[in-house]
Amino acid sequence: MNWEKNVRRVVPYTPGEQPGRQDIIKLNTNENPYPPAPGVLEAVRQIRPEEYRLYPDPDAVSLRQSLASYHGVKTEQVFVGVGSDDVLAMSFLTYFQSGKPILFPDITYSFYDVWAQLYRIPYRTKPLQADFTINPADYFCENGGVIFPNPNAPTGVLESLDTVEAIVKANQDVVVIVDEAYIDFGGVSALPLLKQYENLMIVRTFSKSRSMAGMRIGYALAGEKLLSYLHDAKFSFNSYTMNLPSLRAGVAAIADEAYFQQHIRKVIDTRERTKEELRRLGFSFADSKSNFIFAAHAHVPAEKLFAALKESGIYVRYFRKPGIDNYLRISIGTDEEMRALLAFLKDYIK
Ligand SMILES: *Cc1c(COP(=O)(O)O)cnc(C)c1O
Repeated sequence: MNWEKNVRRVVPYTPGEQPGRQDIIKLNTNENPYPPAPGVLEAVRQIRPEEYRLYPDPDAVSLRQSLASYHGVKTEQVFVGVGSDDVLAMSFLTYFQSGKPILFPDITYSFYDVWAQLYRIPYRTKPLQADFTINPADYFCENGGVIFPNPNAPTGVLESLDTVEAIVKANQDVVVIVDEAYIDFGGVSALPLLKQYENLMIVRTFSKSRSMAGMRIGYALAGEKLLSYLHDAKFSFNSYTMNLPSLRAGVAAIADEAYFQQHIRKVIDTRERTKEELRRLGFSFADSKSNFIFAAHAHVPAEKLFAALKESGIYVRYFRKPGIDNYLRISIGTDEEMRALLAFLKDYIK
């Protein structure tokens, strides 16, 4: 019986562990340690029972409108999805159809090669430089599309707008996707480039900077024409991707800019203090502009530290992958959580 021969086989992405326990200090999946804006909870509470009975708006107009006015673009320039993973997966399916290899960095978000394999898209990775930055010239060659996060994950390194533009400019025959999952933590967005480049797509998420990983909201910003193709692919797949609570919660989150700014500031301040302390303990890392720090210790192997931290109830992320297997990716938690982490490390390392 040969049916298995005819089955699509994939090696799935492995997300960070979500322990059921409450007593864990959870610094392993770059979630925000603070709750979402109070209006988010209120918006979900106010949904009337009869609204649950109906299908949600397949065009997600209210959320797209609020994102459009927030970013100063047209509603047609916003596409929303079930987390940015949904937007990205749909984009791989839609935009990377040339049969030529798409390009992305060798050290990057580990979902990219999974989607490429799922959709049978050929790909080539380009090595990051020793300081974990991208060499834009690596992307000045024939290809089927380009994708990279800015800041990059899991390094936290931010590329300048000049680097991003150089890559977009050199690749106007293909779609270039800039995954800005962490841009709110101090990065410079490629948003102004949308006016000039029809081939650029920017992807954002509510999961990190807006404390809403549980609601699954992501979106893309791009030219109207580019997004029309993504729209058609989505409506050939599943029209009702966005559920009603997520749509309402998303609008409410965007409405509270003061809360957003205040809590971003807190994460950034904690990150900068944590950098100083980690340096004092003998860690080194590239400068992070995200809500995590990707750090290696001078003497203690990362895998050993990872296991010891886990044993003591502190979860961080470790990637057993050549080139980065001596690094820990540590998400920025509250000041109290970071104090507990640093206290453990201080004690363990001495
Ligand atoms: C977290 C993350 C995403 C996915 O976020 P969603 O929760 O699916 O919105 C996408 N890209 C990068 C680089 C990420 O780190």
